[in-house]
Amino acid sequence: MTVGIVGLGAAGLRTAMLLERAGVTVRLFEARYRPGGRMFTADEGNGAVYEAGGEWIDADHLRCLDLMGEFGLEPNEPVDWPRKLVHKGKECTDVTLWNDALEDDLRVEAAAREFCSNLREPPWENLQAKELDRQVLGDFLREHTSSERGLWWVTAKYRSDEGDDPDRIGLLGWLSGYLHYMDREGEEMSAYRFPGGASRLFERMIGTLKAEPVYGAVLHRVRQDASGVTLIFENGEARVDRVILTLPPPALERVVFEPAISVEKRCAVEACRMSRAIKIVWEFDRPWWEEAGWGGSMLCDGPLQQTWDASGADAPVLSAYICGDRAVEWSRLGDPVRAGVYELSLLFPQAAKSFQRGWIHDWVNDPYAQGAFSHLAPEYVLEHMRYIAPAEGRVHFAGEHTAMWTGFIEGALESAERVVEEIIRTES
Ligand SMILES: Cc1cc2nc3c(=O)[nH]c(=O)nc-3n(C[C@H](O)[C@H](O)[C@H](O)COP(=O)(O)OP(=O)(O)OC[C@H]3O[C@@H](n4cnc5c(N)ncnc54)[C@H](O)[C@@H]3O)c2cc1C
Repeated sequence: MTVGIVGLGAAGLRTAMLLERAGVTVRLFEARYRPGGRMFTADEGNGAVYEAGGEWIDADHLRCLDLMGEFGLEPNEPVDWPRKLVHKGKECTDVTLWNDALEDDLRVEAAAREFCSNLREPPWENLQAKELDRQVLGDFLREHTSSERGLWWVTAKYRSDEGDDPDRIGLLGWLSGYLHYMDREGEEMSAYRFPGGASRLFERMIGTLKAEPVYGAVLHRVRQDASGVTLIFENGEARVDRVILTLPPPALERVVFEPAISVEKRCAVEACRMSRAIKIVWEFDRPWWEEAGWGGSMLCDGPLQQTWDASGADAPVLSAYICGDRAVEWSRLGDPVRAGVYELSLLFPQAAKSFQRGWIHDWVNDPYAQGAFSHLAPEYVLEHMRYIAPAEGRVHFAGEHTAMWTGFIEGALESAERVVEEIIRTES
């Protein structure tokens, strides 16, 4: 049996590793001229190295940690500086959180826990929760907070997790994700990073494979018949017994299927929303934030939303992660890098003098992703979610959007395990 894998991000490469390990021949195709998809370690020269896409691993992302372990890579633990919070010109840190914000945070957490205690898995089994599926996270946060600062804090926190504004996130979908958090102890979020960068992990993954990836292969059409599948790329064709498509939903939407895929699958792909997030990255001549006794991590009510020290090598680098409507606005600015330095210098005057050069990674307009990661929009869970992962004949689907760890690197790896099991079961 020969299985084609289209899309060589975390899902595609992990699938290839697992299938080859099971004795299956794979053929690998990727539209870009590099592996990794939405994970990519940018090396701008002179020591300026940082993650342009997926970066953080939570302590309970066991598949990620195990994968690193397979290659003898120890996860990086970031330096433990408290995160600065800036709201209306006042500052605190997440360990000295203002009382009103803390109270609201606890209220939101308690309400989420209560709702979660009535939820079943998988999320689409919660037919009793139609009303929750219609609501948005933003309304839930407004309902369970009593101060303006508290509302800002919980909004900023969950916008960062979801990669988009809470008014676009479905409440049932968010609660289904929250179920994962309930077992967590202490600070298990954003606990680790890939040592040497995520791209190093992808090099190692490719190094284990017998199959040679074909880059620049943009899939346009998938034609299946009783004996196999023909893949039609911009620049050629391939015939395989089965295919696994790991394309993010907006890219999948552009593929033509012959015969057409089911209406349910088509609607699920179209309804699966991508979070709107960009990264702006600045290199400085010195880590002025450390000199000021600060680690670089901040959540603020200004346009930059969130920053952290993203230095992956010698050069001091700060990164801003901007989500939602703001990300769209900033992706349209003539010079978002300079505009960002200006915003930063309003808070930290040293930034302007120390600035060397910078970059923007605009995932909203990325041709092969059109967003950072998927989130569960209102009415998605009960109407569509169950249809996103199942195979259509010889065509199989993987990628973070098909997983229970939706949106995460962990989800991409989870989907790889599921789809490999699906193929092996179907063939045996
Ligand atoms: C800015 C940003 C920050 C993030 N932060 C985190 C984080 O901190 N922690 C975390 O866990 N996750 C994070 N993520 C999400 C994480 O990166 C993704 O969930 C994960 O990388 C998705 O892997 P995937 O294999 O499912 O999809 P992808 O990596 O998107 O792989 C799909 C591949 O398909 C290819 N493709 C698309 N169209 C075609 C076509 N027509 N023909 C052929 N190939 C095609 C793409 O080029 C791509 O390589 C972040 C993502 C971004 C963008």
